[in-house]
Amino acid sequence: MKIGIPRGLLYPKYHIFAKAFFKALGAELIISPATNKKILDEGVKLCADEACLPMKVFHGHVAWLRDRCDALFIPRFMSIEKNEHICPMFCGLIEMLKSNINGLPRVIDEPIYSFHRDKLFKWARRAAAGITSDRQRIKAAFDRAWDMQGRTSLGYRDEYDLKIALIGHAYNVFDEFVNMDIRKKLNKMGIGIVTGECVGKSDIEAQAAKLFKKPFWTFAKEYYGAALSIFKNSMADGMIYLSSFSCGIDSVVTELIKIELGDFPFMVLKLDEHTGEAGYNTRLEAFADMLKRRRAGFDNNLSQYGQCGICRTRSLPGA
Ligand code: SF4
Repeated sequence: MKIGIPRGLLYPKYHIFAKAFFKALGAELIISPATNKKILDEGVKLCADEACLPMKVFHGHVAWLRDRCDALFIPRFMSIEKNEHICPMFCGLIEMLKSNINGLPRVIDEPIYSFHRDKLFKWARRAAAGITSDRQRIKAAFDRAWDMQGRTSLGYRDEYDLKIALIGHAYNVFDEFVNMDIRKKLNKMGIGIVTGECVGKSDIEAQAAKLFKKPFWTFAKEYYGAALSIFKNSMADGMIYLSSFSCGIDSVVTELIKIELGDFPFMVLKLDEHTGEAGYNTRLEAFADMLKRRRAGFDNNLSQYGQCGICRTRSLPGA
């Protein structure tokens, strides 16, 4: 059986597990290519206008796989932490795909509640149903996949003198087409990247616990906790939040982070299918420039000239 795995949404987080599991069951895997213009355009054509960019990109990946596999693996994430939830777009993703894309093959779409191993094994038994009913084989495949996933680490922690924390959804931070290869652009300017994955779970929980109410959404908790932990432990010189246009979670989290950061350099980059690369580059260059000037100590020497209301850096006289 050929199983298609779309390289979109949380793929960077689960692909090691999914590939190891289905391969060990004996399936042949077909993975859609890295996001490109064709995939994006196809997704935009198929998906509702109001949807966020990651959902449109995912539609493009599924359309690419449609006629190339016997079954599609589309994880229906419902909850990955106890008493917390995932964005509702994930819960309804399969229905959206089925109504927007004709002629989909069989979809492996068992709901995933993955906050502990036993629950995930129950999912594995259901997901393997169309491939094998041999319980021993499923158990061996699951153990292997679980082990491989446990040994994998995701995220960037570049060894540069000047560093920027890159916060946001995995599908924005790790998709080089969607984020226009922000890491490469910043590296070229002599700036490294630190991502939220460098922060331990207990630190994330500790920061999130300081909020007046525990976040309902796992994504909100993770991004807020990681951003605050990086800031408080001086792990970066500035912070960029890669936000999806029209994402409710991002609009709340970016405001909560901003409140805590004070005059620490912080910039939100909104991404959608209309984001132009020229304007994007200009904002990155200005931000990088400002960080370099802060590092060089210009801001302290020039404090008498006041502060720029937009980027919060000190302005040179006459600038
Ligand atoms: S969390 Fe935001 S960006 Fe992610 S799928 Fe939901 S609406 Fe889209």
